[in-house]
Amino acid sequence: ARRYLIAGNWKMHCRRSDGAALAADLAARVGLTADPRFDLLVCPPATIISPVAQSVARSAVAVGGQDCHAQVQGAHTGDIAAEMLADAGASFVIVGHSERRTNHGESSATIKGKATAALRAGLTAIICVGETEAQRDAGHAESVVAEQLTGSIPDGATASNSVIAYEPVWAIGTGRTPTLTDIAAMHGMIREKLSGLVADPDAVRILYGGSVKPSNAAEILGLADVDGALVGGASLKADDFWAIAQAC
Ligand code: 13P
Repeated sequence: ARRYLIAGNWKMHCRRSDGAALAADLAARVGLTADPRFDLLVCPPATIISPVAQSVARSAVAVGGQDCHAQVQGAHTGDIAAEMLADAGASFVIVGHSERRTNHGESSATIKGKATAALRAGLTAIICVGETEAQRDAGHAESVVAEQLTGSIPDGATASNSVIAYEPVWAIGTGRTPTLTDIAAMHGMIREKLSGLVADPDAVRILYGGSVKPSNAAEILGLADVDGALVGGASLKADDFWAIAQAC
């Protein structure tokens, strides 16, 4: 059985003090030993990974980055290597979030390079995929996501170093979500597609992301191939994020 992963993507929110406080609040709820039902992860902005990691050090809460560069080091102004995230206290990194694909023109090939770097650095890569509303309306949602998976998943990906996050672009920050039937269909397709891409497809965790909140978490997390959530807005409030985890 796959353990749920409840991941908070803080995006460009929080300063050092409120980020450390939010993380400490979650750490106090989780305690030293992870809940048998779920793993809890927070992904703060890179500038506060280190203090957030200190806040959760004596707990089972994990910390991740939101992006990384493909190279170990070099002349890449403003970029951060996966090894630097690990050095700051991260054990996960999100790659290929739609805000990176859109705002920074990242292709699946670019994302594969970043995911490869994550594995090299010993981080677990959370590889994001998802269609736009126009693509869904045109009936192309599954083919778009299948293509993103093929293009983005690195060689050597396994259930222990990689997680997939399905985030329909039109559901992010909008309060709208696909129907449960549509989420189930997409996650089932992703699971099937993984069989050609990783050695242990049945063990890979597939998260849903996009307007997850306490009121819809139980029904979404109850679907067969949904193994957790990648939460944006609702991860910034400890009570909401914790309520989502309790829905596992
Ligand atoms: P929201 O939960 O705010 O819709 O954001 C989802 C997301 O993009 C998480 O990566």
